[in-house]
Amino acid sequence: MHVYPGDPGFATESVVTVGSDSNYALSRLTFGTHTGTHLDPPAHFFSGAMTVDQVPLETLVGPAVVVEVPDSRAVTEQFLIEHPLPVGTQRVLFKTANGALWDKPKFQRRFVFIDEGAAKHLAAFGVRLAGIDYLSAEQYGARQPVTHWALLGAGTVILEGIDLRAVSPGQYTLVCLPLKIVGGDGAPARAILIQGEAGDE
Ligand SMILES: [Zn+2]
Repeated sequence: MHVYPGDPGFATESVVTVGSDSNYALSRLTFGTHTGTHLDPPAHFFSGAMTVDQVPLETLVGPAVVVEVPDSRAVTEQFLIEHPLPVGTQRVLFKTANGALWDKPKFQRRFVFIDEGAAKHLAAFGVRLAGIDYLSAEQYGARQPVTHWALLGAGTVILEGIDLRAVSPGQYTLVCLPLKIVGGDGAPARAILIQGEAGDE
């Protein structure tokens, strides 16, 4: 598993195994709150703001559009202007060249990010959830977390570390269920796309 530099790594350790001493198995997991596919709530960058357990299920579950972005550097505002989101889009997942990075042996610093202009555009559009297919929506090494500020500051949550390699662009129903960590600044999530739209909203 790729781990963002500075984040705690992932470890699993067997505590009890089925055998002569025990009839059940149990393990201990250790990982950062921003491990693998995970959700960033506003509290990731704003103290006192919405924490991961407070993100409404209505934000996390519902129609979503997967948009393919050919730009190998960033999702830009210009791209979003030239490829407008369907009216009323509340959840958007960007499928980029990042997909190929998951095959590398470790974390890659050069990944496609959502630039500040695009982030502001998405927030102004009313998108509730924006997703990107590598471990951060922010440019690696950015002097300031402008993308996170723009999205989270507007209450738009960010789904990071999604794997869209097997997903074609189009309309889906997203079901994204982050661990309900009380007061959490983030949480790993099981996020799936179901073909076809939910129909209402
Ligand atoms: Zn994160």
